[in-house]
Amino acid sequence: MRGKLVVGNWKMNGGLAANATLLSEIAAGWRRPSPSRDLAVCVPYPYLPQAHGALAGTPIGWGAQDVSEHEAGAYTGEVSARMLAEFGCTYAIVGHSERRQYFGDTDAIVAAKARAALAAGITPIACVGETLAEREQRVTETVVLRQLDAVLSLLGNGATRVVIAYEPIWAIGTGRTASPAEAQAVHATLRARLGEAGAVDVPLLYGGSVKADNAAALFAMADIDGGLIGGASLKAAEFLAIARA
Ligand code: PEP
Repeated sequence: MRGKLVVGNWKMNGGLAANATLLSEIAAGWRRPSPSRDLAVCVPYPYLPQAHGALAGTPIGWGAQDVSEHEAGAYTGEVSARMLAEFGCTYAIVGHSERRQYFGDTDAIVAAKARAALAAGITPIACVGETLAEREQRVTETVVLRQLDAVLSLLGNGATRVVIAYEPIWAIGTGRTASPAEAQAVHATLRARLGEAGAVDVPLLYGGSVKADNAAALFAMADIDGGLIGGASLKAAEFLAIARA
């Protein structure tokens, strides 16, 4: 059976005091229903030691929201996968639409970041998703398969060790969620391509305005294995309710 996973993406939010409360509430509230159900938070880089301190020894994982495609050297401002591993990260998000849109992450860069994460023993959560214009032009499948293929072709056998998140850009932070059927249709397409690549059991997360009141319906879909949660991951009760769904 495929594992289930819910991951919080804090984005550029938080502060030491607020994080301490949030992390302790999440740690206190999460009882893993089975070993195949996982929960994690991806925090801004400076808060990785805090996440490490608060979550080590709990069943909750932590990670970063990006990673350098480079191993080491003269790359001012970058953070390597090996550095993330030193702080106990198990996950690194790569190719979030905000990185693609504002920071120039191309398909090739996203794939290289996924490869760098895997090389350090970190599971990349590679995001794919279409804009509203692309959905209206009915090119959703073409776009998400292009993004997925870039990662699969660079990783080869390593493709079995990734997590993929489908995040329609028009649903991120907008309050507008893909319906369970809309999300499932794209997930089925992604699953078929993963199958062709020998990676059919890779967890496929949905992200985009997931809340406590819509999570159960989304997660009930055959090819949706959990969620990547932005805004709602900043409130412990809401995040835990999503995780329990
Ligand atoms: C995200 O940033 O990955 C995300 C899904 O955001 P939100 O849940 O706020 O739409």
